[in-house]
Amino acid sequence: TATTGTTDDSEALRVLRRVFGYDAFRGQQEAVVEHVVGGGDALVLMPTGGGKSLCYQVPALARPGTGVVISPLIALMQDQVDALRDLGVRAGFLNSTQDVEQRRAVEKSLLDGELDLLYLAPERLRAESTPRLLDRAKLALFAIDEAHCVSQWGHDFRPDYLELSALRERWPDVPRIALTATATEATRAEIATRLGLTGARHFVASFDRPNIQYRIVPKSEPKRQLLELLRTEHVGDAGIVYCLSRASVEKHAAWLVENGITALPYHAGLDARTRATNQARFLREDGLVMVATIAFGMGIDKPDVRFVAHLDLPKSVEGYYQETGRAGRDGLPSTAWLAYGLQDVVQQRKLIETSEGDDAHRRQLGRHLDAMLALCETVECRRVQLLAYFGERAEPCGNCDTCLTPPESWDGTVAAQKLLSTVVRLKRERGQKFGAGQIIDILLGRRTAKVTQHGHDTLSVFGVGAELDEGEWRGVVRQLLARGLLAVEGDYGTVVLTDASAEVLFQGRTVRLRREPKRPARTAAAPKA
Ligand code: ADP
Ligand code: ZN
Repeated sequence: TATTGTTDDSEALRVLRRVFGYDAFRGQQEAVVEHVVGGGDALVLMPTGGGKSLCYQVPALARPGTGVVISPLIALMQDQVDALRDLGVRAGFLNSTQDVEQRRAVEKSLLDGELDLLYLAPERLRAESTPRLLDRAKLALFAIDEAHCVSQWGHDFRPDYLELSALRERWPDVPRIALTATATEATRAEIATRLGLTGARHFVASFDRPNIQYRIVPKSEPKRQLLELLRTEHVGDAGIVYCLSRASVEKHAAWLVENGITALPYHAGLDARTRATNQARFLREDGLVMVATIAFGMGIDKPDVRFVAHLDLPKSVEGYYQETGRAGRDGLPSTAWLAYGLQDVVQQRKLIETSEGDDAHRRQLGRHLDAMLALCETVECRRVQLLAYFGERAEPCGNCDTCLTPPESWDGTVAAQKLLSTVVRLKRERGQKFGAGQIIDILLGRRTAKVTQHGHDTLSVFGVGAELDEGEWRGVVRQLLARGLLAVEGDYGTVVLTDASAEVLFQGRTVRLRREPKRPARTAAAPKA
């Protein structure tokens, strides 16, 4: 049914006001809604909290027929549908948690034209019965939520999403709208290709989250640093603490509880019931801290998460952005805090080395990590760098650690040369490879058992680095790693040279380094824990 732009507009606006109770659309919502109501395909990239849901909910109501929403978040469907029903929207869902009877009832209301929105798990489309059911219904649109799940290199990959390219062939006249909060140029292109959204209009919102304060600190004593953050700035606040491993999640959750903070663990190793209970408590109760792996968070709509803390380095800038983006959806000041250290780099490199997939895949993972390290080691505004990663230009923000406490830089060329030549000596003269700790002990002239055992106190470089302390040397190693002037390999994180190391050693390349803060940024007023 062809209608004019203005009629579409007012119908959409009326739906927005009457059903959802909002006065006006936000940002790009209006343009998206208008486009989809008019029957166009769309790819919508908006940060978490940007208001993606209305982009398909309003057109689904404004167009005749049922809007089919494909979402991988089965656990949230009941809540989403309940919330819509509270608004008087006729909504239902089909997923594996239902019995036959429940499914029948939903199918009947779909065929009777009594559903405005139908949430569908992607695997439902695998069997022929669901497409046949949809053939018999009047469809307003397809919304493909969390569309980045189609990207094979992302950590949210769902094989069933690849099948969604068939939507166009089977229902060529039904508009499709794909939505995601993941947004590099490359991911965007991949989504468009894999979903067959070739003619779709792209709507890209700004990814800036001005209320989130980004801070990245060197990891010294992570537990104490975390506790200090919680006790000085986030007393009684809800927040998420991300850890890499399940064991680390358990350990840190227990430890926070010991220290009087209400914390719960969440990871894929917990049984479904515990996960559901912990998630529900996090959503319902005030001031709860969720200690979790990245298995937690997608689709979680809790507006007042005041902080997201990372105790381990995220694998990519996109991951970091997604995870930190769960803070401050209500627009109020929130903290994104990350502690990272040398060991993180060693660990992540090792994970990449041993990851499944071919060399091209490993190289891609390596590039993702490099971009994340560059963000950690930047002396410029974190936000500028973060947004640049998503192809967006920005001015220094005044609300990140590097803006608030501009890091000093220093000429680290000589330090870098000392460190690199120690690595060379061990390798050339003795065919040995050691981890960063041993290299630093040699530079500091420490006669540890391991140093004397290997006769490293007889090396000419022994003790040549006394001008820096251990923390500063760790900073040097980390920053050289981040810039590819040094590399780590193997199970023990042995330190090796890269092609670029020679430029520093022999070709006069200068190295400016970021000075290590004596104390974590912005916690100067902290009482000792
Ligand atoms: P996303 O899916 O992009 O993370 P949501 O669709 O969940 O974001 O929206 C985030 C919040 O913003 C929700 O609480 C929603 O009700 C609110 N919101 C969205 N659009 C508007 C609007 N036009 N006016 C007022 N509030 C809005
Ligand atoms: Zn800044």
